[in-house]
Amino acid sequence: MPISNLLFGQVVIKERVKVEPKIENKQSNLRKESLHLLELKLTWSGNSDVCLTGQLYKRDYSNPALDVVLFASGGSASLSSNVFDGMYSYSIGFSNINSSGRVASLKIEIYRDNVLIETINSTGKIQRTWGIFWVKAPPCASHACDDNYIYQPPTFEVNGNYPNGYNNFNHCDDSKKPQGYFYVFLNDIETAFEPFTLDVCYNSNRDKWQIKVDNNIKIRAITDICINNLGSNVITKIEEVDNISKELICDALVAIKGYKKYPVSQSMGFANFDFTEIFWAHELAHQTEFETEMIPVALSYSNFNKNLALFNLSCNDENDINDVKEEANELFNNALEKLLEQLRIEVHFRYPSNNPGRTLKNEKQNHLKVQYLVDKYEIRIKKRMKELNINCYK
Ligand SMILES: [Zn+2]
Repeated sequence: MPISNLLFGQVVIKERVKVEPKIENKQSNLRKESLHLLELKLTWSGNSDVCLTGQLYKRDYSNPALDVVLFASGGSASLSSNVFDGMYSYSIGFSNINSSGRVASLKIEIYRDNVLIETINSTGKIQRTWGIFWVKAPPCASHACDDNYIYQPPTFEVNGNYPNGYNNFNHCDDSKKPQGYFYVFLNDIETAFEPFTLDVCYNSNRDKWQIKVDNNIKIRAITDICINNLGSNVITKIEEVDNISKELICDALVAIKGYKKYPVSQSMGFANFDFTEIFWAHELAHQTEFETEMIPVALSYSNFNKNLALFNLSCNDENDINDVKEEANELFNNALEKLLEQLRIEVHFRYPSNNPGRTLKNEKQNHLKVQYLVDKYEIRIKKRMKELNINCYK
């Protein structure tokens, strides 16, 4: 019997399989047409008296040459070739030596660049099946990361330029009437962090979405001086020491010596002096400690980078960029919440509220930059004494 007689006379389309990317990319894809490795893997089986033969076609409509693979018996076969972006179709027919329409099962797997993009399972009286599908960059590829983009977890810095009263916080009004303070907003994400951009991009080499976030995220803080709590002798910069009157210069000398300790002590019976540059140095030392010591500890204890590494989506998991962004945002905010929690713990650890005395070390008055300024002012005051020809020690 010639083999042509074995073919089903009437082709019955048992199943029409249409394979397309789940979600067509609505944005224009500016990437150039690219070459892909396309592979169709076919596995079939049937009853023992069912002999299957099949043809597998690949057709590129822009180039209608056909690749035909013939195989003689049941089992598996595959066709692979390099193809450009475009629409392709396959057509597979089955014939049966003894009688038509025997039950068979068929599995077609379509791989694009070694990534399985579709699996089609058919069972039944399969006689002929065909499908159309697109071979083009996966929908995620239009959101591809720049070639040189490498994910880096962000670093954190303090922006202490927020003024007294920002977000209804004004420590100057406290009963202690401080001359200055450093306060960092750690209560919630919205007030703690300045706006930053969080984006996602698709790394096609790894078939993973990646988080793209600003290199540096700023934490809001108030580092400020309480102008209203200062006395009548305010020295804002060292040159102003040269204007101190002879009546007050000895009081200024007593005052600057009080700056060597914390709390800055004021001697009874002497005029008070507020050297605001020194206050600034003190508060900035708090800010620096927060940035260079407390943030790294909190990043580590909150597992910040590890929490971000949990972001692990492939294009198959998710190909709608808005959904990916939403997931990235959720994960990132979660990591920020944990970071804030550890920062609050760190603040309470270093500045226990039940220890109002606070150690000199914690209070930064002995910080090198602070004491350097105290010495500088003391020297300038002594120079002024000389100018005025006044001996404060007699
Ligand atoms: Zn302090």
